[in-house]
Amino acid sequence: MMKKVFSILLAIFLLLTVSCAIRQDEFRTPEPDMQETYDDFDAFFDKITALTHAITMFYWDMDTGGMPPGAIETRARVISVLDAELFEMKTSETMLTFFQYVEAAIERGEATDIQMGLYREFIREYNRLMCIPADEYKAFSELAVLAVAKWEEAKDKSDFSIFAPYLQQLVDYQRKFIIYRADAGMVYDTPYDALLDDYEPGMTVEILDAFFAEIRENVVPLLQSVTSGEGVIRDDFLTREVSEEIQLNVAKMLMETLGFDLNRGILAQSAHPFATSMGRNDVRITTHINPNDFFDSFFGVAHETGHAIYEQNISERLGFTPLETGSSMGIHESQSRFFENVIGRSLPFWEGIYDVFIRVTEGIFDDVSALELYAAVNIAKPSLIRIQADELTYPLHIMVRYEIEKMLFNDPDVKAEDLPEIWNAKMQEYLGVTPANDAEGILQDIHWAFGEFGYFPSYVIGSAFAAQILDVMENDFDVWASVRALDFETINGWLAERVHKHGAMLSPGEIYAQVAYEGFNPKYYVEYLTRKFGGMQ
Ligand code: ZN
Repeated sequence: MMKKVFSILLAIFLLLTVSCAIRQDEFRTPEPDMQETYDDFDAFFDKITALTHAITMFYWDMDTGGMPPGAIETRARVISVLDAELFEMKTSETMLTFFQYVEAAIERGEATDIQMGLYREFIREYNRLMCIPADEYKAFSELAVLAVAKWEEAKDKSDFSIFAPYLQQLVDYQRKFIIYRADAGMVYDTPYDALLDDYEPGMTVEILDAFFAEIRENVVPLLQSVTSGEGVIRDDFLTREVSEEIQLNVAKMLMETLGFDLNRGILAQSAHPFATSMGRNDVRITTHINPNDFFDSFFGVAHETGHAIYEQNISERLGFTPLETGSSMGIHESQSRFFENVIGRSLPFWEGIYDVFIRVTEGIFDDVSALELYAAVNIAKPSLIRIQADELTYPLHIMVRYEIEKMLFNDPDVKAEDLPEIWNAKMQEYLGVTPANDAEGILQDIHWAFGEFGYFPSYVIGSAFAAQILDVMENDFDVWASVRALDFETINGWLAERVHKHGAMLSPGEIYAQVAYEGFNPKYYVEYLTRKFGGMQ
């Protein structure tokens, strides 16, 4: 998971009633002396960057145990004030003048890539925020806070009916917001497309329908054939006790091996692992240590290190600008899953790292071979919980959520109260398992309680793009020889050139084009899964 500062709650502080007009029609005529003012924009974006870093730092301190519990209200107030300042800047006259400046520069053919990147990022956010009446956005944000509390209660009691009315209201608000967006000129093929675009610009129902059709056709039968060979893989060592000290030593070894620069980043502990960044020189990740679930931390660290290497390799040119971050959730997730799954769960990796691994784990796994480690960390079997799912079943969990979200927004007859039944039927159809209760079924994820719909597909877009990256990389050099030799300079250099260095200056579509000339194509993911799991029984 990659944490970013989102301004979704900022509208609470938006006291102005704003109109829905897209601003591109305004400010047509540039001021003649506008070129001379670009230094002012630099200072303006410096302030946006500094405020964002400050908020990130306050959250980091909260999430990693730095803040005493009694400080929560003071802290919330501090973050609110900084958030409000950021919101004001993003919707300010200065921002409008910046849009006007860049539009004029584009017309003259003089806009720089950084200016165009900033323009694309901020006008998108501006238009999305400004087309919703402030009082409705405020009500939605407050509802989301209440909905999270109701979701927690419903999950504790395993009773979806407690949460259902709040979920329905959140959906109704989002449906209304999609209409406001359409009125303002942000028109999409289907209502759900608008939400997908929030997290993965350019992603559509059309692309994802085709993607999930491939998954349904190929992964569902592949899973059935894999699980029929169940029980032959040795897994007794997966739950062996590993002390916190050893787990942290392994984490550090793994981060350094994969190419994490510890001079520009740190590792800490938190309840749920995440990565966060205050620019390329300050990238932080966390892990969660459970003595009897060592491999959970191991692959969590590999995952977050993937996010971190992306941030650390962003070009210095973008330093201290709002573009010094990843291009989208899906692209970010492709980097974390590349290191966690494509590399971290490969046989060449376990062969390469085996001796160091045995040494750093101080004898705990002495009786286990590299091949046994590789096989055990790739055991695929259907399960109920997404975040515990293996690499093969993971996309099926996302498919269930995608189909339900699509129904909620594109089929007005579907109501929140119908969802547990739909959920359970889809789990049975795709994974062959049915939740015994709502807590291990429809209530397991918090995303919908935040009012976030359209987010889940980013996870699997990341997995799919990671497989596509591997395919292109394999054409360029012997990836597996590099992995076996633990030569991550070659791999990271390749990724930095095509993905990392561009930060958020390029859109996801432009990143796909940098990597693979055909753009995003899910066929590589299906091929990758078939190649890996098809020969595994
Ligand atoms: Zn992640």
